[in-house]
Amino acid sequence: MDPYVNLALDRADRVRAIYLRVSHVERTASWLPIQVICEQCGRIGTTYATDWDGETVAYACLPDMVSWARGCGHEGRLSPLGGRAKLPWNLEWAAKWGLLGVTIEGCGKDLATAGGSRDRSDAISREVFEVEPPRNVAYEFLNVGGKKMSTSKGQGAAAHTIAEVLPPEQLRFLFLRPRPSQVIEFDPEGDTIPRLFDEFDRIAAATAGREVKGELPADYERLFAYSLLAPSPDVAEAAGAFRPAFAHLALLAQIPGVDIAERMEAEKGASLSAFEAAILAERTVSARAWLDSYAPARARLVIRHDAVPEEVAALDAAQRAYLGALATAAAAETPGSGDAWQGLIFRVAAETEMPSGRAFGALYAAFLGRTNGPRAGWLLASLEPGFVVERLRAAAG
Ligand SMILES: [Zn+2]
Repeated sequence: MDPYVNLALDRADRVRAIYLRVSHVERTASWLPIQVICEQCGRIGTTYATDWDGETVAYACLPDMVSWARGCGHEGRLSPLGGRAKLPWNLEWAAKWGLLGVTIEGCGKDLATAGGSRDRSDAISREVFEVEPPRNVAYEFLNVGGKKMSTSKGQGAAAHTIAEVLPPEQLRFLFLRPRPSQVIEFDPEGDTIPRLFDEFDRIAAATAGREVKGELPADYERLFAYSLLAPSPDVAEAAGAFRPAFAHLALLAQIPGVDIAERMEAEKGASLSAFEAAILAERTVSARAWLDSYAPARARLVIRHDAVPEEVAALDAAQRAYLGALATAAAAETPGSGDAWQGLIFRVAAETEMPSGRAFGALYAAFLGRTNGPRAGWLLASLEPGFVVERLRAAAG
């Protein structure tokens, strides 16, 4: 940074003029754009430097310069080179652009306002360091639960909490999916996190060339590739990998005695590759963290293994008949996956002219003793098939 420190001090008059012109901040004629480290007490925020002679500056460590620290009163002269001082941050920002050859750099939109930090650094880069500043991309805010994320004010969620629930690739996906100029609204409560995983999996499937429902974002293959963590990822392998549906996994994670890996191999219909096993392990950790933090009450469940829940008494004859028909169909077909169960639940509902909402209500009552629940197909797929048929018959009466 020394060449930039020299330039900033040689051209301190230009720096002061830029502060005044761009940001209407007036510095006294003796002010220098440098913060030296006090040789006596080691503080940097309390020193005031003046009188650059081309080799050294004079400085004083002032007791009352700032409210958050007290200078020791030392006065002296030193060379500001070799790490004994730093540039104020607007100059440091511009110096790094020159030093590192930066051609594009984004910044938060709060820095990109007219007369703000970015304008100041751009002017310093051009007029003091004589380097064209990088192209700017102003980023929008990340709002967490409708509030601007600000951990220092206790607003929103702490980044480390989000990072415990979301693996790196889903976190990258969250940020890469919207345009840079679009506010990201992220409310970790409710179904936001399962939906984010589902959307990631949908984009993965589309990238793998499979047909998916719904519209795809422009450049979805690049969106997927850039969400991957590996520096040179095998995009085809990553896109084609088996990924357990997050909500299903969160469900399985709550059922005692379930061998999750075994269930997933049954679902896939083949053994998991090492790559897929790693995805499963990562997602299982996420699902447990989600259940401990943001999951809504309806995602938490207790399977009523011991006896038919008394809530079944509230079902009407048509709902009981539906459960009986489903038991017969399930005994004949033994659906092997959440998708297969889901398909069967809908098919039998159509055959018995049962609206799907009432069909699901009957299933939740029979297995959970509740009126609502997670995707019923996944719920049933997570249970022992013999138990499911037996319970359907018992609840049908
Ligand atoms: Zn000092």
